Amino acid sequence: MSLPMVTTVAGLRQQVAAWRAEGLRVALVPTMGALHRGHLSLIEEGLARADRVVISVFVNPSQFGPREDFAAYPRLLEADRAKAEAAGAHLLYAPSVEQIYPPGFATWVTVDGVSEGLCGALRPGHFRGVATVVAKLLTQTAPDVAIFGEKDYQQLMVIRRMTADLDLPVEIVGAPVVREADGLAMSSRNAYLSPEQRAQSATLHAVMTRASQAIRAGGPVAGALAEAIAALQTAGFGPVDYVELRAAETLVPVTVLDGPARLLAAAYLGTTRLIDNIAV
Ligand code: AMP
Repeated sequence: MSLPMVTTVAGLRQQVAAWRAEGLRVALVPTMGALHRGHLSLIEEGLARADRVVISVFVNPSQFGPREDFAAYPRLLEADRAKAEAAGAHLLYAPSVEQIYPPGFATWVTVDGVSEGLCGALRPGHFRGVATVVAKLLTQTAPDVAIFGEKDYQQLMVIRRMTADLDLPVEIVGAPVVREADGLAMSSRNAYLSPEQRAQSATLHAVMTRASQAIRAGGPVAGALAEAIAALQTAGFGPVDYVELRAAETLVPVTVLDGPARLLAAAYLGTTRLIDNIAV
């Protein structure tokens, strides 16, 4: 028997209500599908924290810009269903666009502060789309806990802020970045890379690791960031959207390391935009 799937809010709520009636704890893992080991690690985290894990697969149109890859984004629902089942998920929620954005939809969630700068500056409207869809997935599912990857670190901070500000009764858990053997952070978009670009792509993590070590060792932050950008350009990346050091919780820019920080980067390899981040 394959993993049970629902495509409507009513179907989702019926199943979650049945679990609640049994006193079971429910975890939600929101994704856009094309599942890889990074996503599956979130299911595992959900299983460690709840009795039942719902995974949602929804390619959210509102978080893509007009010149971004919404149409090309991989859609592999049946393969995702098999992978999610093998990882131990209990329910797949695959809503249609109408379940999320019914006719006349007019309410958006914008999160100031942590949404600004980094990807927020380069992808206008992106975090408004993310915050809105996550708010909806959380209110539709009403889970006890929801699991997100640190891979999308700014997104995780946006979701934490939104959940606190809107008093959403859910615990938000961040899970570590899952990487390929050569250090490349797993991403559904890695499928866009040619074999040559795939080989080049590992440089991103190597360059970031080197920059973080230089900063940790007390080297000047601005110099380390500039060196990282130059190294990425030399390795064939371009444009480099940003390489920045930010405070781990507030995401305010850090010029002198004086507490937990995060080094975040976004850069193109050909037409594929890669992002990554590491703790400093
Ligand atoms: P996406 O399908 O890309 O929207 O990602 C869905 C969730 O999986 C988000 O919470 C991501 O941060 C998380 N995720 C994606 N890639 C990874 C990874 N390599 N390691 C850990 N989590 C990830």
